[in-house]
Parts: sequence; C-alpha cells; structure tokens
Amino acid sequence: MKTATLPEGLAVPVIGQGTWMMAEGRHRREDEIAALRAGIDAGMVLIDTAEIYAHGKSEELVGEAIRGRRDEVFLVSKVAPHHASRDGARRACEASLRRLGTDRLDLYLLHWPGSIPLAETVEALRGLKRDGLIRQWGVSNFDVEDMEELFAIPGGSDCATNQILYNLEERGAEFDLLPWLAERAVPVMAYSPVGQGGALLDHPALARVAKRRNATPAQIALAFLVEGDDIVAIPKAGTLAHVRQNASAAEIVLTREDRQDLDAAFPPPKEKRPLAVI
Ligand code: NDP
Repeated sequence: MKTATLPEGLAVPVIGQGTWMMAEGRHRREDEIAALRAGIDAGMVLIDTAEIYAHGKSEELVGEAIRGRRDEVFLVSKVAPHHASRDGARRACEASLRRLGTDRLDLYLLHWPGSIPLAETVEALRGLKRDGLIRQWGVSNFDVEDMEELFAIPGGSDCATNQILYNLEERGAEFDLLPWLAERAVPVMAYSPVGQGGALLDHPALARVAKRRNATPAQIALAFLVEGDDIVAIPKAGTLAHVRQNASAAEIVLTREDRQDLDAAFPPPKEKRPLAVI
C-alpha cells in the first residue's frame, strides 16, 4: 500500500484502521477482532485507539487483535486532555500499554487541547519518548493557532501528526491548516474519513463517481483523502466487507473529471472556518 512518511522517516500505510465504537456491542466482539486482523493482513497495519474509547475496552480489544503480531502493527493511542499532566500522562500511557498488552506505542497523541498547560504536556510526552514508552508523539483536533502555540514551545516542533476531522463534507482544513502542516512536514491523520458511515455515503454525486469508477462511495471518499501528500485516513470498520473495500481504496487514482465532480458537490473552502471536531 502507498505510504506516508512520519518525521524520523517512519513509513505508515495511507489507510489505517480506527477503533472508536468498537467493543460497544455494535458488532460481535469476535467479528470486530476478525475485522482488525483482516485489515492488518490487507496492509492497514496502522491501528488508532484511545484511552477513552469504550472506557478502555477498545484498547483491550485491539490488544487481543494484535496478540502475537505486535511487530507488524503501528499502534496509535491518545491521552485524554485531563490526564495530560507530567505524572498523569505517564500513568495514562502505562494503563494504555497494559490494556494493549504491549510495552510501547508507536505514536501517542494528545486527544484535544485541554486546560493543562501545553508546555507541561509536551514535556511529559518527551519524557515518555525518552524512556521508550512511545516512539513518537503528536496531537489531535489542533487548529492553526493551537499548532502555532505548540511550535513556540521548546521541542514542540517534534510533533509527528495532527489527527483531525477531515472528509469530503468537512474540507475546512484545506484552507489554512493543511498548508500550515504541509509546510512544516507534519503529516495529517484524517478521522471520520467516510463521514461515520452516514449521509455522505448516500450523496448522489459521490455515488455517480463511484459508479463510473466501479468502486463504492466509501472507497472514493478515502481515495480523495489519501491522494494528498502525507495524509493518512483511519476508517473504522467492524465488518470484513468494509475492511476489504477500505484497504483497496488506496489503489484508486482519481481522474481530473472525478475530482471536478467531487469539488462541485463538496466545494473546497474559500475562507477560514474553525476546525470541525466531533
Ligand atoms: P468513519 O468515517 O471511519 O466511519 C465508521 C462507520 O462507517 C462505521 O459505521 C462503519 O461500519 C462504516 N464504514 C466503514 N467502512 C465502510 C465502507 N467501506 N462502506 C460503508 N460503510 C463503512 O468514522 P469514525 O468516527 O469511526 O472515524 C474513524 C476513526 O477515527 C475512529 O474509529 C477513531 O479511531 C478516530 N477518531 C478520532 C477522533 C479524534 O478526536 N481524534 C474523533 C473521531 C474518530 P461498520 O463498523 O459496520 O463496518
């Protein structure tokens, strides 16, 4: 699969796997585990979770799915902002590692900006990296002004990712945040890339492009995102059929006509919009 490059040269597949709302009874537990494993087999080795997802049960489910395969996987988890203090981040990270059944995270993100001073959080994350609990750290739901604050902090520019809401319906980041990040070589991780499986996938324009390309709407929605440089999409799929579709979306190269049709239906932003979040 096509890869994106994180700082320090780490390559990750442009399509990974989300896990929010897993371990919540939407699908049978064994089916969700089988879906994640099939996703790894299909090259979607980046798995995204968070301490808050299903109150830790998402991390436990991921831990089960990757048992015996830890080295194949690029594991991402997130610290909740209220835990992101000097000691709190370490405790939270150690608890995540226990639930995941591993001794290290590949990437650890501050889930969203909170009230603990960012400089303290950065120091805590750098300490976790120094001590080998995490390989890299990053942020999530940071708009341009948050990134500017981060980059003004010593060591803040080591940030390896900003994970944001980005999909065809939510293109606001294209106006200023994506260019800001690209200029500084900070890769973007697009969450809710298929619009949480909602109305986006029923949009007639998306359906038309999908039909023309002999693909599904979700595949076109993903192909649109990962065409950009160093953009990783992390769809969540609890079913094998969706996993297979998502993995092969990286092979689709949109034509100029496809792009024009998508831009007409989902216009790119013409002015600054506050970063959309879920
Ligand atoms: P997604 O856009 O990934 O949508 C997930 C939904 O879409 C599920 O219902 C899934 O169904 C369905 N789906 C997946 N693939 C397909 C397909 N090929 N065709 C049709 N439907 C499909 O939304 P999420 O909000 O889950 O975002 C993805 C991940 O991003 C999260 O799981 C989480 O890891 C991360 N995230 C991070 C946030 C942050 O603040 N940093 C916030 C929100 C999400 P099914 O499961 O039945 O297969």
